[in-house]
Amino acid sequence: MARIALVTGGQRGIGAAISEHLQKNGRTVVASYAGNDEAARAFTERTGIPTYKFDVSDWDQCAAALKKIEAEVGPVEILVNNAGITRDNTMKRMDRKAWDDVIDTNLGSCFNLCKLVWDGMSSRKFGRIVNIGSINGQAGQYGQVNYAAAKSGIHGFTKALALEGARASITVNAIAPGYVDTEMVRAVPPDVLEKIIARIPRGRLGTADDIARGVAFLTADEADFITGSTLSINGGQHMY
Ligand code: NDP
Repeated sequence: MARIALVTGGQRGIGAAISEHLQKNGRTVVASYAGNDEAARAFTERTGIPTYKFDVSDWDQCAAALKKIEAEVGPVEILVNNAGITRDNTMKRMDRKAWDDVIDTNLGSCFNLCKLVWDGMSSRKFGRIVNIGSINGQAGQYGQVNYAAAKSGIHGFTKALALEGARASITVNAIAPGYVDTEMVRAVPPDVLEKIIARIPRGRLGTADDIARGVAFLTADEADFITGSTLSINGGQHMY
């Protein structure tokens, strides 16, 4: 039986590439999203991958969605916590809501979904969890105290949970992408983006496929001995 993978934010951007790579590798994939119905519809039409709409920062919505997914598709054996947002501003201008939204969506979501799949993975003695961090959680970034804190938190969360899962063959790893050509990065002003690319030794932005290949590697059944690690995929921009 094909293993079931849930990819949050899995219908566009990096998440869509992750969903499609896992599907190509023979997984039964389910993608979640927040509100972009049009992207979800187009994605399902193109790939046949079902999408579920719920807010990953909201515990009750996550619990209800997991129940539905497990009833309609089956138990989640591979979880990719990919959904994320930015609400950039300097400390002087950042309000409390921008802080809470980014922490809750990018980091709180990892708690919500890992907690909801944990008992099942533990009792079945198999699980693959990949949390999508960021180069900016490793190195910091001007105007991103909220995002850098959330992503840095993901890296600590990953290592701690890996210790708890190890005896049950649940691996927990993180990927720290560098700058990837998606809508999130296209929102960066062109002059700033040019300077960012100039600092990438590989000389280009990453692609969503660059990240998806890392997820496919870490979620393979054979990747049993890799846990608690952070895989940096950043064109050599930050060697951590
Ligand atoms: P996009 O903005 O292209 O897509 C974000 C995805 O997350 C969408 O599917 C969106 O759903 C979903 N999402 C956002 N908020 C929520 C929520 N509250 N509940 C459920 N789903 C939600 O992002 P990217 O593809 O660029 O980024 C994917 C991940 O990679 C993120 O965690 C990001 O931080 C990380 N990353 C990205 C980098 C980059 O250069 N792009 C670099 C480093 C890390 P919907 O479409 O419905 O809004």
